[in-house]
Amino acid sequence: MTCGRSRRWHYAGLMQSADELVKSGEWRRGLAAGARWLGHGLLDLVYPPVCLHCDAPTVTPDTLCPACFARLRPITAPLCPRLGLLFAVSLRAEALSAETLADPPSFGQARAAVIYNDMAGTIVSRLKYGD
Ligand SMILES: [Zn+2]
Repeated sequence: MTCGRSRRWHYAGLMQSADELVKSGEWRRGLAAGARWLGHGLLDLVYPPVCLHCDAPTVTPDTLCPACFARLRPITAPLCPRLGLLFAVSLRAEALSAETLADPPSFGQARAAVIYNDMAGTIVSRLKYGD
């Protein structure tokens, strides 16, 4: 008796949850997310993910292979606090570059994440003009 009542309550709870799920439209979002996941999986089988720079196979899409990632040179101190230009030697933190002093920019600060080389140029170009 207790067991049957418990099942009915459990069933009623499931029906209420399913009803709320349908009314909220959440099932559509779940279905869409599942279709996207399946679509990406199928797309990865047909077009495996490749490096953004050299087209070597990668595990995840829109990334770099380890060799290309190692070639990225992040910009770190010592650098000009205004233009972000690299200094050859470590200076005071507020020391400005000759370029900043000769032609002070109208903006307060500019930074790039990495040194612009052929690889960074390719990535930026693909970001701007590719898919
Ligand atoms: Zn690569």
